[in-house]
Amino acid sequence: MTTVITRFPPSPTGHLHVGGARTALFNWLWARKNGGKFILRIEDTDAARSTGEMTRGILDGMRWLGLDWDEGPYFQSRRISLYNEYIDRLLQTGHAYYCACTPDEVEAMRNEARAAGAVPKYNGRCREKGLAPGPGRVVRFKAPLNGETSFKDVVKGNVSVPNAQLDDMVLRRVDGIPTYNLAVVVDDVTMAVTHIIRGDDHLSNTPKQVLLYEALGQALPQFGHVPMILGPDKKKLSKRHGATSVTVYRELGYLPEAVVNYLARLGWSHKDQEIFSLDELLTHFSLGHLGTSACVFDQGKLLWLNAHYIKSETPQRLAPLLADFLQQRGHREVNSAYLEAIVPLLQPRAGTMVEMAEMAEFFVADDHRLPMDEAAAGKYLTAQVKEHFVSLHNLLQTTSPFDQAALEALFSRYLEDKDVVFKVLAQPLRVALTGKTKSPGLFETMEVLGQARVVRRLANALRRIE
Ligand code: GLU
Repeated sequence: MTTVITRFPPSPTGHLHVGGARTALFNWLWARKNGGKFILRIEDTDAARSTGEMTRGILDGMRWLGLDWDEGPYFQSRRISLYNEYIDRLLQTGHAYYCACTPDEVEAMRNEARAAGAVPKYNGRCREKGLAPGPGRVVRFKAPLNGETSFKDVVKGNVSVPNAQLDDMVLRRVDGIPTYNLAVVVDDVTMAVTHIIRGDDHLSNTPKQVLLYEALGQALPQFGHVPMILGPDKKKLSKRHGATSVTVYRELGYLPEAVVNYLARLGWSHKDQEIFSLDELLTHFSLGHLGTSACVFDQGKLLWLNAHYIKSETPQRLAPLLADFLQQRGHREVNSAYLEAIVPLLQPRAGTMVEMAEMAEFFVADDHRLPMDEAAAGKYLTAQVKEHFVSLHNLLQTTSPFDQAALEALFSRYLEDKDVVFKVLAQPLRVALTGKTKSPGLFETMEVLGQARVVRRLANALRRIE
């Protein structure tokens, strides 16, 4: 059996788009599942629009998602001479020719065809002239004039296009740079790619590529064109719909597991299952279950999955991430054991790591500079609770151990002694200790804050009341 070889060939003219990341994932899964190879190739022949920064961003995004590659990154810009060898070979075998028509002339031919109700294309004027190379000349492919070009697609089924509709495409531009279709085919042939899964925005290129495979005497790979990802308004997903770049989701505090799980389900399914570990994806992924209809990008579902993964990850895994997000919010380095104790309290509450960092701020704030909800402080930190705070400050200073169970017991004794209900004290204490009216459970919060912080914050609240 031939080894499965797949590839992901982004153009570094933009960020790693969720659509690109999804096809990368499908190709990666297929290679990994079959013990094959996954190749990364940077299609940077458009020198004016490609940047090193975009390339770095794409590689970072791939690493973050865990989509490791076995070969590459190859850069098309460093393979120009290889493409030219193949173009020369096509010239020698009569599959290509030099064309001296100017862009204006070609445009006029297209308009003429359009006016006559025909397919707008190059009219083949230089096809049989046998022109030699020269300035201003491109190399064109000599496409067959009759018959059909067909290929089998795992998503679309049998695809057939009348050759009369296909153009004598340009293979090498005036500036000597090969075109996308030529470079892709040479790369896929020389890299022995067996499966090409990509967006169906490329479907119209595929017959042209098939013709090149045939002209080069090469067997076709297996194609699979997955439907585009749409926004909620059913238009192609774009920035208008919200974040489309993988990096942005990372910055918004999404976990890669959630993004991978979400992308896998965009255009692929296995029964009704929504949540997949990587192992499950590898077990169940198959090209036969790629969907045929366009899928809508659903932010709400991605957030739901992210919340699910935040709940199910270990505090040890999330604590360093929380540390990063806290640092971005201007907090100094926080002790990792403290963070690991904070995380479980916030896991059930945070949809993203950014939200978790927001919620964690009161834990790591300096006791003397605890950000305070002033309205809540005005309402709850009043003379009415002063005596209680004085007594509790004394009790809490000396009690041991300082854990949830002991604190619960201490409070129930205290409330009974003073004949007050917990409600009288709960919000004032919460505001004193967290600066806010909402937080995880009071006793678990106190245990994690620890005795010293709790006592200092109570003392600060008392000073405020006085
Ligand atoms: N560079 C092309 C893109 O980013 C690759 C298309 C392909 O998979 O052949 O759309």
